[in-house]
Amino acid sequence: MKWSCLFTIEQDLDLDERAGFEVGGVRIGGKEPIIIAGPCTVESEEQTMSVARAVKAAGVRILRGGAFKPRTSPYSFQGLGEEGLRILKTARDETGLLVQTEVMDTSQIDLVCKYADILQVGTRNMMNYSLLKALGKVGFPVMLKRGFMATVEELLLAAEYITKGGNEQLFVCERGIRSFDDSTRFTLDLTAVPLIKKMSSLPIIIDPSHATGRADLIIPMSLAGLAAGADGVMVEVHPYPKKAMCDGLQSLSLDMFEEFMGKVRSMISFLASQKREE
Ligand code: PEP
Ligand code: MN
Repeated sequence: MKWSCLFTIEQDLDLDERAGFEVGGVRIGGKEPIIIAGPCTVESEEQTMSVARAVKAAGVRILRGGAFKPRTSPYSFQGLGEEGLRILKTARDETGLLVQTEVMDTSQIDLVCKYADILQVGTRNMMNYSLLKALGKVGFPVMLKRGFMATVEELLLAAEYITKGGNEQLFVCERGIRSFDDSTRFTLDLTAVPLIKKMSSLPIIIDPSHATGRADLIIPMSLAGLAAGADGVMVEVHPYPKKAMCDGLQSLSLDMFEEFMGKVRSMISFLASQKREE
């Protein structure tokens, strides 16, 4: 099948052709994989600042955190909304970290753009075509998550709604798909990483937190994702995972995050040394 503009399955893109793009001094899709880390949900200034400081101290440049949360149950905590965005801005101002947060609806775009550096489209909104079209018109970087029931082709076509509108500051995220196996929350489709690199020039990162739903599986899957060629990893971190209002089981504690960073750094250096030898 032929893809209309950016994507062509026949075209085996050379790695050197991938320049990626820059957001506030951070290159996404360049030579060095990026790490995005932060709480699932902004719960309070204290919680967010404690994660932001740890993330910053570890050398990470992008803080994640949800203010508008797409929850499966309408009875679950829905996020702090604009108050959460203000807290993220405080963290941004104090640490210099870039902030990535979710936008769930076209009506939230202007508001979220006032506070964030990168807009996130969640798995449940990958097929919200009015949102995708509107994001094609904003001058803001976007991270589009793969729908958990979406094929790679559907993800790339969803991405194309954004790029076709004129916004090429886009990267995608493999966050796990639903399979017959419920041993883990979702199934991290690592094949999608090298496959998408063959099919498109879009940077692709992985999110092992939502994919596995288990903090103890995040380090091995992150290393595997990087080895598969991912342009980055996004993880959830919480100062007290047991007390988290959302996704505590998959959140790394601050100690686990330190271990994660050590191992991820070693993998990144190893992969860079392999590339130099090629
Ligand atoms: C998130 O990353 O905050 C999130 C809600 O993830 P997903 O959309 O993949 O469920
Ligand atoms: Mn989460």
